[in-house]
Amino acid sequence: MNNPLLQEWNTPFGTPPFQLIETIHFKPAIEEAIKSATEEIKLITENNELPDFENSIAALDRVGETLGKITSVLFNLNSAETNKELQETAQEVSPLLTRFSNDITLNEKLFKKIKIVHESRETSGLNTEEKILTERKFRNFMLGGASLKKEERKRFREISEELATLSLRFEENVLEETNSFELHLTDRDDLAGLPESLIEMASLEADRRKNEGWIFTLHFPSYIPFMQYSEKRDLREKMLKAYSSRAFTSNKFDNSENILKIANLRLEIARMLGFSNYAEMILGDRMADTPEKVDKFLEELYQASKPAAGRDFENISSFAESSIHIGAIERYDWAYYSEKLKKKLYDIDDEILKPYFSLEKVESAIFGLASSLYGIRFLSNNTIPVYHQDVKTFEVYDQDNSFLSILYVDYFPRPGKNGGAWMTSFRDQKNENGNETRPLISIVANFTRPSETRPSLLTFNELTTFLHEFGHSLHGMLTKCTYESLSGTNVARDFVELPSQFMENFAFEKEWLDTWATHYLTEEKIPDEIIGKIKEASAFNEGYACFRQLGFGFLDMAWHTIINPINVNISDFESAAMKKTELFPAIEGLNMSASFGHIFGGGYAAGYYGYKWAEVLDADAFSYFTETGIFNKETATAFRKNILEKGGTEKPLDLYVRFRGKEPSIEALLKRSGLK
Ligand SMILES: [Zn+2]
Repeated sequence: MNNPLLQEWNTPFGTPPFQLIETIHFKPAIEEAIKSATEEIKLITENNELPDFENSIAALDRVGETLGKITSVLFNLNSAETNKELQETAQEVSPLLTRFSNDITLNEKLFKKIKIVHESRETSGLNTEEKILTERKFRNFMLGGASLKKEERKRFREISEELATLSLRFEENVLEETNSFELHLTDRDDLAGLPESLIEMASLEADRRKNEGWIFTLHFPSYIPFMQYSEKRDLREKMLKAYSSRAFTSNKFDNSENILKIANLRLEIARMLGFSNYAEMILGDRMADTPEKVDKFLEELYQASKPAAGRDFENISSFAESSIHIGAIERYDWAYYSEKLKKKLYDIDDEILKPYFSLEKVESAIFGLASSLYGIRFLSNNTIPVYHQDVKTFEVYDQDNSFLSILYVDYFPRPGKNGGAWMTSFRDQKNENGNETRPLISIVANFTRPSETRPSLLTFNELTTFLHEFGHSLHGMLTKCTYESLSGTNVARDFVELPSQFMENFAFEKEWLDTWATHYLTEEKIPDEIIGKIKEASAFNEGYACFRQLGFGFLDMAWHTIINPINVNISDFESAAMKKTELFPAIEGLNMSASFGHIFGGGYAAGYYGYKWAEVLDADAFSYFTETGIFNKETATAFRKNILEKGGTEKPLDLYVRFRGKEPSIEALLKRSGLK
């Protein structure tokens, strides 16, 4: 009875009352909310009127408002401010939520209604948004196995559960193999070339493991700089081989068998549902909605980037030769010589840039950018409850003073927060018969903390990260849709990164940097020379980088377009798929698939191409801004009205063409990346 999660939230803007919420409140509240949501489903299925959009599709979209509120608080906290008890709670309620969602998709009465509305969607006078919502709901049911016969359903559930287990095991194996390796050095000579900060970190790591000397690991903060700076070629070779053979060493953590099982089970599920392969099933609601379109896209970019990738490879090779290197350049030489050449050409690094990017200035510059583009404003409000004292909140208003959203910002790392940066929401936007709910949006990051003597000074990468997440948050805050499951960032996976990557472009624009980037001590403006170098350096080795991403894209598609069960040597399979993007001599025993968590552990199966796809979109979109002026109000309004406000209520390509006046082409990306 006293559970704040189940009571009315009497807080400013109906925000979550964090000060009242305790971990023990979640499970009973979720159980209760599932009960009421189940009752809501019952009301739909027991309605004797003829099924129509309103009493079936729209009604289903409204199911579980309380459940949604509570779970978003739980999972957002579990990412941003967690502890053991909260993690356990999340694990305990996850199966309840999965069961609830299966109970919906496998509810035959409900599916019958959805199917009837879906069948008449072209003739029943639905508007575009209603038609899209109908199609999306129907697709969810279909992919959830709703149309399968009873015997098939049993197998379908079996496969789904086995796939979930296999993906988890795949990730656990990669993690185990990442954690179990250490490069233990005791001779100071072996540290040659390494930056002081990395040496310090390695020494702390050795302390932590009760050892002498220095310990380097395969985790990024240790592995990446080691490969960039270590002058010891044999040690780089050792590190790279360890990294690139994770879960591929014929021990009990080897993922080879898991990969074959996953690929074959995915194929089986796709076939049960009437598709010829898994990619075809997954891509159905994407912008690139068939495997053929993805292949064509990857191939086009491949042809276009081939010369530049070859050029980059030649450059690094001849630079290596002119230094001390003898013989063919190997995979473990790449990062090292790239870093050296980059430093020589541009002489720029984070220590030079950071003083111009104090967090306080960056925040107000980014808010200011949104104001000049879209006329919106941000009003600090410190009466809104927060889940940690570091979190700040803002009210966001449109140019006509109507309320748009609450924005939470949570900048600094702390124990209990996941790594990286992300945008999320505590409540999504919807409009129920003129009664509008505005969203509660949050940006969570791990930016450099202020010290006793210095304010928080961001690296260039942190600046673009902030812009990126802020782009997602604009998509969330400016949305004007009717149905919650189509609003904000609820769009196709290969469209969702457009608003975010689009914003990153501003970090390279002198016209924007000039308006705010000044030295935090001297107030001196960021020198033009530095801005020029930032831009030039951004295209460095982009041909090679593009090639590498394409290789992963080809590999992903190869695993997910098989049309018969396979039992192959995974090395041979991989080499065949990636052959044309391979620039280095092959090294025996290395394998990418065995640790390719994006596609075998996470949700990027048949979706890895999406990274490059979104880059094409954001480069093409931003080129329209550079043509018309980066602060041009009309262009910005077109972007806002057609992209940022529309969520998933129309086909992404239709929205894009309406904004841009034409379909996206790869030209702008090639130009920006110096591939042309
Ligand atoms: Zn993103």
